[in-house]
Amino acid sequence: MKQLLDYNYEEIEKIVLDLGEKKFRAKQLFEWLNKGAEFNEMKNLPASFIKKLEDEGYVAQAIHIKDVLESKLDGTKKYIYELNDGNIIEGVLMKYKYGNTICVSTQVGCRMNCAFCASGLDGLIRNLTPGEILGQVIAVNKDNKVDKERAITNIVLMGSGEPLDNYDNVTKFLDLVNAEEGLNISMRNISLSTCGLCDKIYKLADDGYNLTLTISLHAPTNAQRLQTMPVTKKYPIEEIIKAVKYYFDKTGRRIVFEYAMIEGQNDTLESSKALVALLKGLTCHVNVIPLNYVKERGLKGTNMDSIKNFIKYLEDHKISATKRRTMGADIEGACGQLRRKYLNKDE
Ligand code: SF4
Repeated sequence: MKQLLDYNYEEIEKIVLDLGEKKFRAKQLFEWLNKGAEFNEMKNLPASFIKKLEDEGYVAQAIHIKDVLESKLDGTKKYIYELNDGNIIEGVLMKYKYGNTICVSTQVGCRMNCAFCASGLDGLIRNLTPGEILGQVIAVNKDNKVDKERAITNIVLMGSGEPLDNYDNVTKFLDLVNAEEGLNISMRNISLSTCGLCDKIYKLADDGYNLTLTISLHAPTNAQRLQTMPVTKKYPIEEIIKAVKYYFDKTGRRIVFEYAMIEGQNDTLESSKALVALLKGLTCHVNVIPLNYVKERGLKGTNMDSIKNFIKYLEDHKISATKRRTMGADIEGACGQLRRKYLNKDE
C-alpha cells in the first residue's frame, strides 16, 4: 500500500504521467488530497484514472479520525486517529484568539523515555511517514468544515514522539505543509519541540528550516535533568545551549524553552538561579508549564503561587517568561498526556 499523501507535488506529477494521464490531473489530485478527500469524493477525476491508482496500490489518505473528545473547560479538541496499519495516535486542536493551533504527533510512541510523559510509556513503535503527519492537519481542517480557508493557522510538533528522531520524514512533512500547492502554512507559524538532539538541531539550521525551535528543558542542571530526561546523558545541557546558539545565529529565530514545574524537583530558588545563569545572554523565552498529571508516572506539578514566583524571578533577571495556559487537561490533551493507546473515558 502506498499513501499518496506521502508524496510532494513533483512526485505526484510523475505518478500521474507514469500512469499515462495528462499533467493537469496532478494539480487536481493534489488539491483533493490536501482537502482530505478519498478517491470516491474526487468528483472531477475520471473513474478510469482512479482505478489505475487503486490497481497500483495507492490509497488517498494516510489517517482517519476515530474519535474526538472536546474539553468542557476551553473547547480544546483531542483527536484520536487510526493509521492505515491499525496503529493509534493522538493530537490536539487548540483554539486561541489569534487562530487555531494543531499539535501533531511525529512517531507512534517515543524512545526518549522522559519520566513525566505518557507518550514514551511503551517505547518507540515506529516513525510516522510525512503523509501521516500531514494527514493529521488535513483531517482536522476537514473535520472543522473549512474548505477554502484553513481552519488551522499554526502547527506545533509537540505530540507523541521526538520530531528530530524522525528527521527525514519530519522535514519532508515541513516541506509538504509549507508548499504553495498544498496548505501553504508558513514556517513562522510552525513550532518544533525537541528534547535536545543536538546533531539534528545543527542539521535543521543548516537545512534552512526557520521555524520556532522549542527545547523541552525542564531542568537547569544536568544532575537535575537526568532525573527526568535520560537523553541528557547523550546531550548534556551545555551542548544544547551551544546548538541553539548556532540555530539562532543561522535563523534569527528566538529560542523557546519549555519548563514543566515538578514539585520539589525543579521549582526551588536554586533552580531559578541556575536557570538564569544558564540562559543569560540568549535571545529566548521560557514557557513555564505546571506539570500535567499522568497516572503511570506519579509526579506532581508545582502550585500556582510558586510558579508565579519562579516567573517573577526570571523576569527580574531579564529572562522573558510566561506561564503557558494548560489546554484540554480534562480530556488528557495537555502536554505529556498524549499516548499510543486509546484510553476510553472510564479508564
Ligand atoms: S516528552 Fe517528548 S521526547 Fe520525552 S518521551 Fe514524551 S514525546 Fe518523547
